[in-house]
Amino acid sequence: MTVAARIRCSFCGKADTEVQRIVAGPGVYICDECVSLAATVIEQSAATAGEDPARPKLPIWSSLSDDEMLGHIPRVAAHIDATEADLVAWVRELRRRGTTWTKIGEALGITRQSAWERFSGEE
Ligand SMILES: [Zn+2]
Repeated sequence: MTVAARIRCSFCGKADTEVQRIVAGPGVYICDECVSLAATVIEQSAATAGEDPARPKLPIWSSLSDDEMLGHIPRVAAHIDATEADLVAWVRELRRRGTTWTKIGEALGITRQSAWERFSGEE
């Protein structure tokens, strides 16, 4: 497996080799450590200064230095591609099940034609 293909936690950026477990979601992954941290954040539900108390973020921004944040943003950007690839996989599974392009387009708020152009892989 290449470094680029290594699965990483979408929250902390740790690779699957650095944590015990990673769970996949639609376009994202979360490690056991971030699940624990998220549970703690939810339990405490106390707002950290400067963060939206309704939507706490992991990693907690106020705990990161500027350099740590700079180190993390390429991983955030990499998730754009990973999420797109996962969306394609979801659509391909729907197509394999016989779902029409019209229904897929409706679900995504785009036309049948746009759905086909974006996901069919055909010219
Ligand atoms: Zn994590």
